[in-house]
Amino acid sequence: MEIGCHVSISGSIDKAVDNAVERECSAFQIFTRNPRGWHAKDLSDEDITNFKSKLKSSKINRFATCAHMPYLPNLATPKKDGFEKSVKILINEVERCAQLGIPYLVTHLGSHLGTGEESGIKRLVEGLTKAGETKNDVMILLENTAGQKNSVGSDFQQLGEIFNQLKPTKKFGVCFDSCHAFVAGYDLRTEKKVKETFDEFDKYVGIKNLKILHLNDAKGDLGCNLDRHYHLGLGGIGEKGITAIVKFANNHKIPIILETPIDDDRDDFGNIRKAKEFA
Ligand code: ZN
Ligand code: ZN
Ligand code: ZN
Repeated sequence: MEIGCHVSISGSIDKAVDNAVERECSAFQIFTRNPRGWHAKDLSDEDITNFKSKLKSSKINRFATCAHMPYLPNLATPKKDGFEKSVKILINEVERCAQLGIPYLVTHLGSHLGTGEESGIKRLVEGLTKAGETKNDVMILLENTAGQKNSVGSDFQQLGEIFNQLKPTKKFGVCFDSCHAFVAGYDLRTEKKVKETFDEFDKYVGIKNLKILHLNDAKGDLGCNLDRHYHLGLGGIGEKGITAIVKFANNHKIPIILETPIDDDRDDFGNIRKAKEFA
């Protein structure tokens, strides 16, 4: 089983590997820069060399690592300026992943800001397609969303419709977030429901396109559309459901990444240990 969590790059980007090794991760996710700003300093040759050599000397498989897009870009926005800036960042993040040898970049699908799904999806597909034209081996992974107002891509059928428009196909895949799916209305509380949910995901999106699984319990209840992650087994999904999801990921050899909170109840070490127990 390949499992780990989102790790900090605070200090320098190679620290991410130290943080992952310290947490006994066999997979991890990073932001390649500050996720809350528009601007990113270019990666230096030293950053790149240090990251790659630390990753190589760790036992972590490069194909169990991914980066996540920063928060500000919105690929479905009707604002011309914002759209262009968002696409530029997407392309830049793809290139940063290529420099670091990270094979996957996870992105959210954005918000149409009230202009309707159809036009939002059109812009989204245009932006993703542009990033898909870059010459490298990085795959952009579309992450299912929690279904907040005006958001795109919480419904598997719609996610599949978007995914199927993207070319070249080798540049695109998907990332399944268990908290997002659950609060978007897909029941994951029992082994049977987990199977049904993944069957539906397979029907519209394809399990073969699933490259990373974000394993998070949900603070809220089924269908509440609230994007609040929670400790594994202690949220709305619960132990039975989380266990079934872990087993599903392991059966399909999909790396598991935790994006769970750190508080008095538990930290990353505790949640990773729990996931290994459930397995
Ligand atoms: Zn995400
Ligand atoms: Zn996620
Ligand atoms: Zn989330």
